[in-house]
Amino acid sequence: MPGFFLAPWPKPLLAACKNPKSVAQIHAIMLLTGNLIHGNSNGQLIASYARTGDINSANQVFDEMPQRNIATWRAIIIAYSHKNSPTQVLNLYHQMILDGTRPDSSTFTVSLKACADLLDLETGKEIHSRAIDFGYKDDVFVGSSVLNLYAKCGKMEEAMRVFDEMPKRDLVSWTTMVTGFAQSGRAVEAIGIYRRMQNEGIEGDGIVMVSLIQACANLGDLKLGLSVHGYMIRRDIWMDVVIETSLVDMYAKNGFLNLASHVFERMSHRNVVSWSALISGFAQNGFAGDSLRLLIDMQDEGLKPDLVALVSALLACSQIGFLKLGKSIHGFIARRLEFDRISGTAVIDMYSKCGSLSSARLLFDRISSRDSISWNAMITSYGIHGRGNEALSLFFQMNKTQLKPDQATFASLLSAFSHSGLVEEGRHWFDLMVREFKIEPSEKHYACMVDLLARAGFVKEAHELIQSMKIEPGVAIWVALLSGCRNHRNLELGELVTMKILELKPDDPGIYALISNTFAAARKWDEVAQVRKVMKKTGMKKVPGYSVVEVKGKLHAFLMEDKTHPQNEKIMEMLERLDFEMRQMGYVPKTEFVLHDLEEEMKERMLCNHSERLAIAFALLNTGPGTRILITKNLRVCGDCHNATRFISKIVDREIVVRDVRRFHHFKDGVCSCGDYW
Ligand code: ZN
Ligand code: ZN
Repeated sequence: MPGFFLAPWPKPLLAACKNPKSVAQIHAIMLLTGNLIHGNSNGQLIASYARTGDINSANQVFDEMPQRNIATWRAIIIAYSHKNSPTQVLNLYHQMILDGTRPDSSTFTVSLKACADLLDLETGKEIHSRAIDFGYKDDVFVGSSVLNLYAKCGKMEEAMRVFDEMPKRDLVSWTTMVTGFAQSGRAVEAIGIYRRMQNEGIEGDGIVMVSLIQACANLGDLKLGLSVHGYMIRRDIWMDVVIETSLVDMYAKNGFLNLASHVFERMSHRNVVSWSALISGFAQNGFAGDSLRLLIDMQDEGLKPDLVALVSALLACSQIGFLKLGKSIHGFIARRLEFDRISGTAVIDMYSKCGSLSSARLLFDRISSRDSISWNAMITSYGIHGRGNEALSLFFQMNKTQLKPDQATFASLLSAFSHSGLVEEGRHWFDLMVREFKIEPSEKHYACMVDLLARAGFVKEAHELIQSMKIEPGVAIWVALLSGCRNHRNLELGELVTMKILELKPDDPGIYALISNTFAAARKWDEVAQVRKVMKKTGMKKVPGYSVVEVKGKLHAFLMEDKTHPQNEKIMEMLERLDFEMRQMGYVPKTEFVLHDLEEEMKERMLCNHSERLAIAFALLNTGPGTRILITKNLRVCGDCHNATRFISKIVDREIVVRDVRRFHHFKDGVCSCGDYW
């Protein structure tokens, strides 16, 4: 007899169902026994269909119901929410309102979440005010969802207001605030809320910790990061792959690669994001080799690198001039992933730094949505190749678009002028930047101008520009002036500048090397010894020079005076033969580029052993006639090697491209593209 079985018998049975088929069986019995007259059972049926993954049946039950109550509305709305269909959730919410059903806390909460997912602030505000009208103002779940909505939409001020007015806050509301601030890049406030939370005696969970770690990573606040990490260990908070990955990322971003690797190696499970965090940490801190090795290890573990890992790998390729790998990464991205602005710019940068300016330009022309970062990257590329006029013409093109040149654009442009020795253009555009474009020159702009002027011999004008600066000139600017003084033999000003630099106590050994070089050029050996003493006392070591050359798709690295190479004997023979021919053509070694107080002959031999020469000789021995040689050097190429490479390019009739730490030199037929100006 219908209605004989009374509710709530279906409830435990439905709860036990593991698949839609068994739900359907109970559904059939319910139909037979007339159990569906009870609205509650309908809600349970809908929820069970949804839970076992059959949203269509859930929907069908809902549609066929003669009468709906809040329980059935709630069930179908939650069902769509779990299916991540925020648009459906909001449609149903509006239907429910039209239907005259009064929403409850859950339906408000779920609908607000849908607005947050859609970043639909307007609808969210409407729902919030209706919730207040219906008496849910102080409901902690509704309150937390409103916070979440504002936080997701980046409206942290409004979120803060709601938060402060909440009579009761739970872990979710605190977490939402910490996460919201952390994700909108407001790390200080994120940490502030966390402190308040601690003061109120609320323990943070894993989600809060991840946000805090992100905040520390972005802020570079390692001390706090360490204390969060320590807190989690002390409180025995379970660290999942997300937390551990954010720790790896935090340590890696701030250059603490040992700590990052330490956490990484102890992870029981690593995902693509964990690998990417470490790969990008190594690449960004200049450890290209380690970064690329990790990329291989990652693939050995069966993981496909994501865009973050690939962009980092491109950066690593740029650093060491590994064109072949860079090209294959470009191909990989083009085939399997979608190019976005960041990866597009990274590929442009890679081609340009690996010496292939035309490929960089080709790609630049193909990017459809160019922003100022891509324009700046291309202008910089022309700059480091010493193509100042092309940089300027690109700058004119950029001005014809909607985009306006910014600080960074001018930095790229001025740096291009400085690499090309375009003094007139430099003066002109520096002036226009200030007067017409109303851009206040930054340290970087001054550094380019001082470099340009000092290098061209306008040492006095460069010095005057420094004196006119409104900001305190940093080490980089004085160093640019000092190299000008050294090259143009203005040792009087050079000594004054040296004093300024020493006052600023730079920690870059390269700068001390330049100072000691300057003194060495003036044959002031006592001063040279003094500078060495400072370097020794502070534990600074001059970075050893090394050059990398790609031969047949493999990288070969050479250190200065490196005798360990298996082909060492042949390399030495080649260098001696070249040295003989160079001297016939009028080459005279510039021994001032050797630091030591040694006999002339010893110095000459040392010049011959500079890493770039070993690399050139090796490449000549191992590549066919006419092949272009690309060398990447970690320091600046010295004046003597520059001179020698000019001669070598003529003798062997090859194009030799040397990328040093500052720019490119294209040697061909005895001439360098930099016009001996670098
Ligand atoms: Zn050299
Ligand atoms: Zn050059």
